[in-house]
Amino acid sequence: MRYLVLSDIHSNLEALESCLELADGKYDAAVCLGDLVGYGPDPNAVVSRMRQLTDAIIGGNHDKACAGLSDAEDFNVLAKLTAFWTRQALTPENFDFLRKLPAGPLLMEGFELVHGSQTDEDEYIIGPTQALAALKMLTLQLVFFGHTHQQGGFVLDRLGRLQSVDCFSESDGRSLVLPLENGGRYLINPGSVGQPRDGDWRAAFALYDSDSRIVSFHRVPYNLKRAQDRILAANLPQRLATRLAAGR
Ligand code: ZN
Repeated sequence: MRYLVLSDIHSNLEALESCLELADGKYDAAVCLGDLVGYGPDPNAVVSRMRQLTDAIIGGNHDKACAGLSDAEDFNVLAKLTAFWTRQALTPENFDFLRKLPAGPLLMEGFELVHGSQTDEDEYIIGPTQALAALKMLTLQLVFFGHTHQQGGFVLDRLGRLQSVDCFSESDGRSLVLPLENGGRYLINPGSVGQPRDGDWRAAFALYDSDSRIVSFHRVPYNLKRAQDRILAANLPQRLATRLAAGR
């Protein structure tokens, strides 16, 4: 089975459509690690598109805040402001859909989906300390996580050595291919579709083939100008438009 792995779309319809175009024909099923909404100008179109695409979606911290399930107290000013904007913008049906999203971990065919980590959906796995703790808890060989908006992840190989999966050097348009080795444990982040923060502005996603046990990481340019114009037309803060270009 070939899976399309999406995360952190953040109401960026242009980025989502470009990912789906590039991935077209290369997957049998899609999964999503949360944060469909927040920050971006098109929450309804993104939620509707994802509802058509798959049932395998877990909620992220922004989905919870935008659906009124958390008070966004720990959010920064930009995140909080857009969470409240999104609450107003969502149709009742899409609001209800976000409210009912399950929390991770969600068990798939031999792998799991989480937003932050297996034990805390709000945890950022950004460095070796958090990664090692999370990898040691894995009961399956492979867990996909999001939340940090950084494509790549971490591997604990069969000899117990921790390695990071660095996709950034592959920013020349090639995709990084990672075959899973027997005895290794893998925490894999497909990157953020709609608001990458690893210095590469292009939309990110991953594909996973569960038969050949190969993960591949992809980046795709999208219509950045139109996404930025949509943000400004929605009267959302300009900073949200400029950060998309910087990939930060
Ligand atoms: Zn996010």
